[in-house]
Amino acid sequence: MTASPPPPADALFRVVLGRQKRRPTRLAMVSALGASSLPMTGWRPALCWILAYAVHQAIEHACCPRQPTEVPLSAWQCARSLILIFSGNAVFSGLGIVQTVIAGPWGLVCGCLLWSGCFVQAAVGNAGSRKAVVACSLPQVLYFLSVPFLIAQDNTTLILGLVVVLSGLVHGLGILEVWSVTEKRFESEQKARLAGHVARHDPETHLPNRLTLEEKIAAESQKDQTLMVAVLEINRFADLRGAIGYALAAELIRQVSIRLDDHHGGIVARLSSSTLGLLFHAQNLSQAHAYAARLQAAMATPVVVAGIDVDITFTIGLASLRDSDSASLLLEHASVALDAARRASISVNVFETSQDANLAGNLSLMSDMLRSIKTGEITNYYQPKYDLRSGRLVGVEALVRWHHPERGFVAPDLFIPVAEETGRIRELTLDVLSRAIRDQAWLADRGHKLDFAVNLSGRLLQDAEIIQTIIDIARPAAPRVSMEVTETAMMAYPEKAIALLQRLRSAGIGLSIDDYGTGLSSLAYLKNIPAAELKIDRSFVTHLDTCREDELLVRSTIALAHSLGLRVVAEGVESRRTLEILRSVECDLAQGYYLARPLPLARLARLLENDLARPNRACGHIPEKLGL
Ligand code: C2E
Ligand code: CA
Ligand code: CA
Repeated sequence: MTASPPPPADALFRVVLGRQKRRPTRLAMVSALGASSLPMTGWRPALCWILAYAVHQAIEHACCPRQPTEVPLSAWQCARSLILIFSGNAVFSGLGIVQTVIAGPWGLVCGCLLWSGCFVQAAVGNAGSRKAVVACSLPQVLYFLSVPFLIAQDNTTLILGLVVVLSGLVHGLGILEVWSVTEKRFESEQKARLAGHVARHDPETHLPNRLTLEEKIAAESQKDQTLMVAVLEINRFADLRGAIGYALAAELIRQVSIRLDDHHGGIVARLSSSTLGLLFHAQNLSQAHAYAARLQAAMATPVVVAGIDVDITFTIGLASLRDSDSASLLLEHASVALDAARRASISVNVFETSQDANLAGNLSLMSDMLRSIKTGEITNYYQPKYDLRSGRLVGVEALVRWHHPERGFVAPDLFIPVAEETGRIRELTLDVLSRAIRDQAWLADRGHKLDFAVNLSGRLLQDAEIIQTIIDIARPAAPRVSMEVTETAMMAYPEKAIALLQRLRSAGIGLSIDDYGTGLSSLAYLKNIPAAELKIDRSFVTHLDTCREDELLVRSTIALAHSLGLRVVAEGVESRRTLEILRSVECDLAQGYYLARPLPLARLARLLENDLARPNRACGHIPEKLGL
């Protein structure tokens, strides 16, 4: 642990203690000063002065042993050093008055300059301020500048003049010494302060960081068990940052923290690019919810950055110290609550201990998943996609399936989010992709040339390495392989995502915008994405047969997508009527339970064989369903 610099008051009391470090230099300096006062006062006062100084030093030495700076001074030590400082001051000022009497007004000037300068210089030298050392050295410089005039005025002898010059030199050396000690100390303190600041603050916004918040939690938790943490995620922060740029986004975070500070008055720490952490006290859940509501209310009016009004909303995770026995666990719990809130699309969620069990469950699920990848319990199903004009089965979407020996069928909606959270989605994606490419080649060998689509998690869109591995695996099968990426995933990290998607595209791998309509992106924005296909989310398709608004929406989306050169797939087709509507609005492809459910490879092959067995009707049963 680095020693923090002593507080200012402590530094002042250390004047006496610090002076001891430089006693030999100081004795030489003071002797020189005494000698230099000879021209004005004669030898008796000068000798008195040196003697008084020596006695004072001896008392100081006896009463104040040296102390390492890291050890705080006791009240008695502080009092003792103050007494010594003031007694020394009184003695020296008295001598100054004697000088005045003997040497007249010049003596007054010189004495005052000398004593005040000497004393204050020592004080500030120990307190560590550069400017103060310079300022306090000035009176002494003035003194030595004035000495030649004194000598000229009093017709002092050459020998006395030499003594003065020599003492001036010694004094100068003393000032240099004080300067260098102060410099070193000042620099090391600066470094310590800077290192402490860097370690405890976010470099982009200079807000306190996680470490500071953890230290604060540790300090406060000693006193109060009602302590709670709120982790706030700024909703759609990545989109905002994409729209206004990194510098303004950092400014936005600062403005938000100021706003929160006004309402909440405690530390506001930045925990990650889009999350902030706050400490508060609540006796029960309703108080905690009320607090969260106040935080949301603080953002009722837009935050202004660079003249732009930005509407801010939060998703908030709360956790109580009662459920966590350390600062880092408390923060982790609040983050778990936040993740759950995000998944459930609610704005506030309080951590419950059962979620801890979920965490442990998730980890064991993931270790099971890695094992299952190896043992073949994880397989691909393939859901056919039909061309609506010809009625032909032209492609499939690979959908992962996990038949766990004990847990039974584990739905992808259950384990994919966990794989994403724990980073295992990389292995899973590569596994699904490699198998899809093998199965595609196997079908091609039997005369069925199909396009294969594999889902690509948004989490992987920041990972250049995995994209390169995907390219390496899929390139041999291009252009009959494509990746499906949800529009929300692309919007989360627009620049980087688009650059990586471009690399896939350049390697000949197709791109499909999945679940279109569930995010809030406009098609105009999506035209920046190098995709060839748009999949309208099943929530807009499934009820096409009964919902007029959905039909209007799907119709206009198809027209717009076509104008951007995108092929359109409707997913979630569950009825004949829906299929007919899709044909009438010129949708290109359809996928859904009405046409075919996701099938294991063998059944897909059988379906294709059956179609081939009907020579006049390729994919026979589909045109029947289409009414062709
Ligand atoms: P998705 O990409 O939107 O996949 C389509 C989902 O809709 C599949 O669910 C499919 O079984 C289901 N579906 C197909 N036709 C219909 C229909 O007519 N009606 C209804 N109600 N549903 C239909 P599944 O297989 O449970 O997959 C759920 C999600 O899991 C997928 O949604 C996808 O986001 C994800 N997923 C599946 N496999 C993978 C994978 O290999 N990698 C990644 N990253 N995600 C995957
Ligand atoms: Ca998909
Ligand atoms: Ca989809």
